[in-house]
Amino acid sequence: MDNKMPGRDISMDDMINKFPLSSSLKKKKIVKINSKISFGGGNFPIISGPNTIENKNMIFRSCELLEKLNLKLLRAAIYKPLTFPYRSNKYFELGDKGIRILEEIKKNFDVILVSEIMEVSKIKVIKDFVDIFQIGARNMQNYSLLSEVAKINKPILLKRHFGCSLKDLLGASEYILLNKNNNVILCERGVSSAYTHKPTSRFILDIQAVPAIKDYSCLPIILDPSHACFWHKWVKDLALASMAVGSHGMMIEFHHDPRNSAVDPLQSLNFNEFSLLIKKLKKLSNYFKIKVV
Ligand code: PEP
Ligand code: MN
Repeated sequence: MDNKMPGRDISMDDMINKFPLSSSLKKKKIVKINSKISFGGGNFPIISGPNTIENKNMIFRSCELLEKLNLKLLRAAIYKPLTFPYRSNKYFELGDKGIRILEEIKKNFDVILVSEIMEVSKIKVIKDFVDIFQIGARNMQNYSLLSEVAKINKPILLKRHFGCSLKDLLGASEYILLNKNNNVILCERGVSSAYTHKPTSRFILDIQAVPAIKDYSCLPIILDPSHACFWHKWVKDLALASMAVGSHGMMIEFHHDPRNSAVDPLQSLNFNEFSLLIKKLKKLSNYFKIKVV
């Protein structure tokens, strides 16, 4: 590691004093999910599924697709940080009503549930039904939430806020590590960009974050191309780039009827598009000698 790191946001002093537990001065961490799946352990886990669970039928269909593709990690959100406060038959989150569905998924499928938590008060409500807690971009710096979720001792997927530096992200991860939970997976999901890109993209996938985090941190990092570009037609190419750049996995959205998805209808792939993408990723994974799981 270059002592001065000229022009960089992160200095050696930061690594020693500001984020000592997540810095690359520590041994690289592997977040083990089960005997076959780990982040940072040489395979390539893909967390996929709809933006949000809308009902039992649609999420069961999603689980069937995962089974067919031999994937295990399901996006299983019931709480959503929705940009606008209004709800309708079309734009909604299930909230507590979704807990029964999480239980039913577990009874019927061999899947690992990744679910967003937004409030401290909900931790005890869903902790027994969730395998990996997701902290969304908007809550990245909600430090009391990070500290409380950490205590549950389940893996945590920490998404980078779209306006935060990598130093901020590592600072946030430090709150989890400090609470004795070492199972942190970082997720880059697009950052706000200059006006030059506004007409075409909501955010820009910062793939550079992958080599940078590998340089500065001991934590695994994955990419979420769906939330970054917000546009289904570009997700495939960004997903391939995500693997090529060396990320430790990926989060990606699919939906049986994307344009009628309750939330974020523009970014989801349909079942066919998603299946084709997985086929391509599996081919590319042979080149990198990593296994898609
Ligand atoms: C999500 O993954 O469902 C989500 C809301 O993403 P982000 O927090 O990155 O916006
Ligand atoms: Mn979203």
